[in-house]
Amino acid sequence: MPDIFDLIIIGAGPAGITAAVYAARKRLKLIILTGDIGGQAAWSGEIENYTGFNIISGPELAVKFDEHIKQFKLPIKESEEAISLTSDNGIFTVTTPKGKYSASSVIIASGKRSRELNVPGEKEFKNKGLTYCATCDGPLFAGKEVAVIGGGNSALDAAIQLARYCSKVYIVNNTENLGGDEVMRDQVIKNPVVSVINGAKVMSILGEKAVSAVRVESALAGLSEIPVNGVFVEIGLLPNSEFASLVKRNGSGEILVDTGCATSIPGIFAAGDVTNVAEKQIIIAAGEGAKASLAVFKYLVTNGKL
Ligand SMILES: Cc1cc2nc3c(=O)[nH]c(=O)nc-3n(C[C@H](O)[C@H](O)[C@H](O)COP(=O)(O)OP(=O)(O)OC[C@H]3O[C@@H](n4cnc5c(N)ncnc54)[C@H](O)[C@@H]3O)c2cc1C
Repeated sequence: MPDIFDLIIIGAGPAGITAAVYAARKRLKLIILTGDIGGQAAWSGEIENYTGFNIISGPELAVKFDEHIKQFKLPIKESEEAISLTSDNGIFTVTTPKGKYSASSVIIASGKRSRELNVPGEKEFKNKGLTYCATCDGPLFAGKEVAVIGGGNSALDAAIQLARYCSKVYIVNNTENLGGDEVMRDQVIKNPVVSVINGAKVMSILGEKAVSAVRVESALAGLSEIPVNGVFVEIGLLPNSEFASLVKRNGSGEILVDTGCATSIPGIFAAGDVTNVAEKQIIIAAGEGAKASLAVFKYLVTNGKL
């Protein structure tokens, strides 16, 4: 008979890690199934809005999360992502490519992933000049010319990071004006290394063995090619909720939760960016993770499962 855990936490970004800290302190028997530790928080260049740290880089914060969670010596299965979640008589089973895990409760904290462009050349040149993470891959393009696709905060953050070591950064934005926060827009517009191309749609990524150009189309200039060695796709995010069809989700695929992180199925809770919670931020995801764990504890006690 396999172990039945009190709790399975899916994901180890800010929401999942914080949920795990709270659950460990309640002495719950839990397991964490995740792709990585840190989640999107590790992709950020500089974080200035996580209380307690005046400024910290995303990768450094991810290391802090890792150190914090490892002190509890919990079972953490990294590179083991949920592919399905089923329910049978109040016991939930999460299946991954490597196994099956059962528990009396689940916290889904699987966050979001980058949206793809879906243009010719994207798949062929993935990791051959085309990437979705400026923090992770930007330094590989030092001294080179690159294009950032997108016009929101993620694109602005990427462009600001890349301008530190790339010789030229083009922002290719398909709307008339850049979006994102004013403070970030100002930094981008004042940066002599960055050129903003508004109203341009990416048609394809060109190259032989690696990226050599981006083909764009705009109402003003028609079709044109921008010669670059790197392409950073920053056009938004999609919730990692496909495996969670058991619970109700909104039209964007976000899991619907109440103010206590409860989903439509009693015993399944969700926290952070994968949910419909207003605003997607590290501190908010962490707070939601804490709330989800406290709600799980209450659920287990109330239902005589502890
Ligand atoms: C470029 C960028 C910069 C940002 N900068 C800031 C900033 O400066 N300040 C700020 O507050 N916020 C920032 N954010 C937003 C912030 O990073 C997110 O709001 C936060 O990380 C969400 O946390 P989360 O735990 O809900 O999800 P995520 O961070 O997305 O973590 C999800 C976790 O789930 C795992 N996972 C995914 N699918 C599965 C699965 N099927 N099974 C198991 N595990 C899975 C992943 O491996 C990961 O560990 C930024 C985001 C981006 C993209």
